[in-house]
Amino acid sequence: MQKKITTSGWGRYPLVAAAVQRARYLSDLGRAAATPVLPQGNCRSYGDACLYERVVSTLALKHLLNFDPQRGLLRAQAGITLAEIIRFVLPYGFFPPVTPGTKFPTLGGCIAADVHGKNHHAEGSMAAFVEALDMVLADGSLVRCSRHQRAELFWATLGGMGLTGFIYAATLRLKKVPSAYIRQRAIKTANWAETCRVCTETQHQYTYSVAWVDGLQTGRRLGRGRVLLGEHAGVRELKGKPPFPGHGEGRWVVPFFWPGGVLNAKSLKVFNALYYHRQVRRTSDALVHYDPYFYPLDAVGDWNRLYGRRGFLQYQVAVPYADGADVIADLLGRIARAGVASPLAVLKTFGPPNAGLLSFPIAGYTLALDIPLRDDGTIPFLHTLNKIVVAAQGRVYLAKDAILAREDFAAMYPQLEQFKAVKRKYDPEGRFRSCLSDRLGIT
Ligand SMILES: Cc1cc2nc3c(=O)[nH]c(=O)nc-3n(C[C@H](O)[C@H](O)[C@H](O)COP(=O)(O)OP(=O)(O)OC[C@H]3O[C@@H](n4cnc5c(N)ncnc54)[C@H](O)[C@@H]3O)c2cc1C
Repeated sequence: MQKKITTSGWGRYPLVAAAVQRARYLSDLGRAAATPVLPQGNCRSYGDACLYERVVSTLALKHLLNFDPQRGLLRAQAGITLAEIIRFVLPYGFFPPVTPGTKFPTLGGCIAADVHGKNHHAEGSMAAFVEALDMVLADGSLVRCSRHQRAELFWATLGGMGLTGFIYAATLRLKKVPSAYIRQRAIKTANWAETCRVCTETQHQYTYSVAWVDGLQTGRRLGRGRVLLGEHAGVRELKGKPPFPGHGEGRWVVPFFWPGGVLNAKSLKVFNALYYHRQVRRTSDALVHYDPYFYPLDAVGDWNRLYGRRGFLQYQVAVPYADGADVIADLLGRIARAGVASPLAVLKTFGPPNAGLLSFPIAGYTLALDIPLRDDGTIPFLHTLNKIVVAAQGRVYLAKDAILAREDFAAMYPQLEQFKAVKRKYDPEGRFRSCLSDRLGIT
C-alpha cells in the first residue's frame, strides 16, 4: 500500500492524510480512474476541494501540445501552470484571457473551478475561452467534449471541481495584448456606498476592476477602500520601454509558520491604514507591469504561513445586484465587529453567469476575505453568515470553501441535481470524489 502524506489546500485547513500519485503519461490517468480518486493540480484552492485520501497530481503533465499564433489558440496538458503559459505566449503578444489572483494554479485547476478574474463583468470566466477538453473518464476512456460535442459533460466539468473525470488537455483561446503592462487607475473611496458606486459606474469603461476594502472598519468608514481599474497598455503609452520585458524572478519566501500568526488584529490595522493612506490623492494613474497588477501576492512565496499553523479560511461569496450592496455591507459589518477579518478583503463585480452547472459567478457583487482560524467560534460564525447569503440567493465559492453545510450548498447551487445526473452518466460508480464532494453530499 502507498504511504500517505499530510496534504492541504492553500489555507492549510483541513489537513488530510493522502496517498499521492504523480501522473506522467496519459495512460497513468486511465489506470488511476479504476478506484476512487481525485485529480489534483497545484493545491491553490484554499479548502478541501483538492483533497481526498487518494489523489493523482497532474503537475508533471505540463506539455504544450499546439500553439496557433494566428488564431491565438493554445492546446496544452492540464498540469501546466498559468505562469508557464505566460512565459511562453507573452513574447508572441498573448495573455491568459482570465486569470485568478495568482499565476501558480494549473490549467486543469482553473477549468475545474471555472476561475474568474478582474474582468468577469466584461468578459466572463474561464469557461468563455475554453474551446475543447480532452478527458479521461471513470471507465478509462479518453473523450473530447466541447460546446458542440458531449456538451453536458463540458458544462459539468467547467466548475465541476474535478468530479467528472481527469482533464488531460485543454484548448484555450488566448487574449491578444499590445504589451506586458497595464494602465492602472486607482480611486480612493471613503465608505461602502462610494466603493459600490465607483465599481458599478466604471464597469463599462474598464476591462479590469477590483476593489480592496478595509475589512477592519466599522461605522461611517465601513467599506472604505481603493478601486483599482486597469486596461492593457498600448505601445505608445510605454514611453520607450520594451513592450515585452522579462518576467520577475526574485521573491521573498516566508521561511516557517509564524508562531500564533503574525497577522493579528494590531498588525492588520497598521497594514490597512498604511495601504489606504499610501494614496494621497483621490485618483492616481500609473503604468504597472502585469505581475504586480494581477499577482501582487505572488511576490511573497508561501505567504499562507503568516497565518500560523492553524491555517485560515478564505470566505468568498457572490450576491445578486438586487440587494447585494446591502447584504455585503451587512456581512462586512458583522465580520469587522466580530474581529475575525484580515486585510485581504476584495470586492469585484460579476457579469452574467454561464451554463456551467456548478460554476460560481452570478451577476452581482463578490466579496472575498481571509479569516484566520484563531478559535473554535470562527466556523459557527461563518455558518450564520452563510444563512444570510442563502436568504439573498447568493452563494459561496467552492474553490475557497472548507466548511459549507450541505443544506446551504443545495440552496446556493440550484443546478446541483442536473450536475449529479451528468456525473452518474459518466461516472456511475462515483469514482471521482473529494473531501469537499463527500462533505457536501455530491458523492
Ligand atoms: C492567492 C490566490 C488567489 C486566488 N485568486 C482567485 C481569483 O481571483 N479567482 C478565482 O476564481 N480563483 C482564485 N484562486 C483560487 C484558484 O485559482 C483555484 O482554486 C484553482 O482551482 C487552483 O488551481 P490548482 O491547479 O491549484 O488546482 P487544485 O487546487 O489542486 O484543485 C482545484 C480543483 O481542480 C480540480 N482539478 C485540478 N486539476 C484537474 C484536472 N487535471 N482534471 C480535473 N480536475 C482537476 C481538483 O480536483 C480540485 O477540485 C486564488 C487562489 C490563491 C491561492
